[in-house]
Amino acid sequence: MVAANLLRRVRYCMSVNADNPELLRAQLTALSRLVPLLYSILVANAWVLASTFFGKAPNWLGVYVALALSIFCAVRLTQWWRKRGLVPTVTKEQAVYELRRTNKLAGILGVAFSIWAIALFPYGDAYAQAHVALFLTMAMLGSMLCLIHLRSAAMIVAITVSVPFVVFFALSGVPTFLGTAINVMLVTVAAVIVILIQYRDFTRMVEAQKRTEMLSNENLRLANLDSLTDLPNRRAFFAHLDKAFERAQLQGSRLALGIIDLDGFKPVNDLYGHATGDKLLIEVAARLSSICSSETFFMSRLGGDEFAYVIMDAPNDAALVAQGHEIAAMLRAPFMLSEATVQISGSIGIAVHPEMAASSQQLFERADYALYHGKDAKRGSAMLFSAEHEAQINSDARIEQALKRADFEQELSVVFQPIVDIRSHDTVGFEALARWTSPVLGKVSPGMFIPIAERAGIISVLTQSLLKKALATASEWPANLRLSFNLSAVDLNSAEGVLGIVSIIEGSGFDTRRLDLEITETAFTHDFAQIHRSVETLRLLGCGISLDDFGTGYSSLSRLHALPLTKIKIDRSFVTDLHKSQNSRKIVKSLLALSRDMGLDCVIEGVETQEEMAALQRLGGLLVQGYFYSPPIPADNVAAYLNDTGVVAISA
Ligand code: C2E
Ligand code: CA
Ligand code: CA
Repeated sequence: MVAANLLRRVRYCMSVNADNPELLRAQLTALSRLVPLLYSILVANAWVLASTFFGKAPNWLGVYVALALSIFCAVRLTQWWRKRGLVPTVTKEQAVYELRRTNKLAGILGVAFSIWAIALFPYGDAYAQAHVALFLTMAMLGSMLCLIHLRSAAMIVAITVSVPFVVFFALSGVPTFLGTAINVMLVTVAAVIVILIQYRDFTRMVEAQKRTEMLSNENLRLANLDSLTDLPNRRAFFAHLDKAFERAQLQGSRLALGIIDLDGFKPVNDLYGHATGDKLLIEVAARLSSICSSETFFMSRLGGDEFAYVIMDAPNDAALVAQGHEIAAMLRAPFMLSEATVQISGSIGIAVHPEMAASSQQLFERADYALYHGKDAKRGSAMLFSAEHEAQINSDARIEQALKRADFEQELSVVFQPIVDIRSHDTVGFEALARWTSPVLGKVSPGMFIPIAERAGIISVLTQSLLKKALATASEWPANLRLSFNLSAVDLNSAEGVLGIVSIIEGSGFDTRRLDLEITETAFTHDFAQIHRSVETLRLLGCGISLDDFGTGYSSLSRLHALPLTKIKIDRSFVTDLHKSQNSRKIVKSLLALSRDMGLDCVIEGVETQEEMAALQRLGGLLVQGYFYSPPIPADNVAAYLNDTGVVAISA
């Protein structure tokens, strides 16, 4: 029983452990470094021994057998040398095969060298015979040392060399050799113990390395995954994009990039809380994942309510847009969450390499551009980056350059458009509108340069210059006239921005109760807490706050209530052809009712014709602004305008 167990253990120690690929590979790596050394030592030592027996032993034994053994060793050495770079790529089966062969050859060579050396023994004198003993001991220990990472081979060498050695020398009848045999036996036992310990440490080290590697692989996986939705995250997206872009360039294939921005996510988040917002994002991600059926489609979450995808070997433009529309339609279907059923939509911007972008960064920027321009034009649908967008980008860049070089005091001016009470036709105030005449570009409309100044981060300088001019002009007006001034959401997005505005207003001496500051619904897409503080500050100063372009944005009613507004301005788009469009009439009617319920004044913008005017009167509109009464007029013409309309004259 004990013997059987021992035998099993010995057999185990002398075989290759075939089910640990990492260990197999580590063993091969170590061996590929040490086995060439082993063969070199063996061959060199064999020839030193052969030289001792030269002329004493017959040549066939002393030279030719040594030569044959050397050639064999040289062939194996070359084979190992050639394979040393390939170790990381070998399969488990190849590694097992290679290691088993090493075991086999260790046995064959152990026996061969032992027989050869013992065969030489009778031909030598006592010194030469002692050399045989030394050679065998050294060759065995050297080989075991070089095979330390393959326990089985080292053990096989120990057995195939030490057993014939010990038996032969013990039976030689020479007491010195008997002593030598005992010495060798003891050293072999010690060497075997060292090998067993070293090998155990080696396997443990490989195991530990494997665990560390697995851990870092897991960390890498987690670092590339969005923890909420389990989609690849922003980092993974850009890494994938770069790789896919390189591949597309090499192969000359088409690569498409789509950015998805959810419409209506923020209100859900505000109304139902972050937990519900998170659930919604998880559901959205699940729907988006369902379309990533092919290997060429890579979907990820960039962050917030923004997702993006990359398509390798992209189909034609029409198919890409159709697919974008499909995604948008998929996102429009209601989401049944436990708190509520909510409906949102998604806008998508798409750009394609090579037609529209020469770098992965440009591809992303252009998809982003298409997204935001698509959002302006038609929310909840897909927009492909186009030649017009390209022209727009170039023109925007020219405007930005000119703006950055502009002398605002000189080039900027303010015009004023009257706001009229339609019951009395009295002008109750003016809205200040910016005008820019650039020496390079000529007249540029505010609709163009204001958004560019916002993006370029120079809007607050413009705002301050315009505000000073508007207040200076309005200070000359009769005290019953109000001034409306447009603020950019960016102005309100920082405490410093608001302080700049407050100090200009206070410095002007203009009665703050006559000042209305207009903000648009884009303010809701900024840091709402900061916007809220800013608006509050301006309200405390005594200014009125108007919500401009009302009805065009997507602000929730709860948010309207959250700001201390005094006025809303119904957007021009609802007024155009009001008399013809039943829908527009319904909208204007409900917006008027809403403003009344909220106790807010309501200005209707963009009234151009008598028909629109009449329709508005029927709906109960009170304050109107538009070409019907007057286009915006230069500051110098305000006095004449007031005289002509018989309101109040400005005292000169
Ligand atoms: P807004 O604040 O909605 O201003 C009304 C725009 O409608 C003005 O265009 C005005 O000229 C135009 N408008 C007025 N009545 C009619 C009408 O009957 N028919 C038509 N078709 N248009 C009419 P404008 O001056 O080109 O300004 C465009 C936008 O630029 C403004 O829209 C405002 O958002 C922005 N803006 C203008 N001045 C400033 C400013 O000083 N600061 C900021 N932040 N934005 C400004
Ligand atoms: Ca306005
Ligand atoms: Ca407006």
